[in-house]
Amino acid sequence: MTHRISQSEVEKIDGSGHYLLKGESLNQYNLIHKDVGIELLLTSGIRNVVKQMHLFLSKTRQSMGNLSKASRSLAPPGYSFHGIGDFDVGKIGLGEANFTIDFSNTEEFKRLITLGYVDIRYTDTNRYGVRYEPWHIKII
Ligand SMILES: [Zn+2]
Repeated sequence: MTHRISQSEVEKIDGSGHYLLKGESLNQYNLIHKDVGIELLLTSGIRNVVKQMHLFLSKTRQSMGNLSKASRSLAPPGYSFHGIGDFDVGKIGLGEANFTIDFSNTEEFKRLITLGYVDIRYTDTNRYGVRYEPWHIKII
């Protein structure tokens, strides 16, 4: 709970309000942004444990207190790959639909696939029961 990510380790991404870890995450995002185009947007970057706790509690509330259901679409604090560098991308203007299957119908997603950027961590047949997330970019 007390683990902190220092300001010097991260960089704020213009126009997104989100942060990325310097190094591999930031380099990969910059490359993707350049190759896929200006419509591509960072929708979630690095998250510390406290941020993940807030998101998880909010998801648990939406799931009427069902922790198992909540954890299928959001990892519990300390277990998110967003804590080690993974990030999410979307398309400008798509809003909340960036976190739905709709994102996989965008030109941006098709370019991500064609260019080989998407190594999907949770495929549509994953055995962990985690929802399919075509917007999630795996770093490690
Ligand atoms: Zn993600």
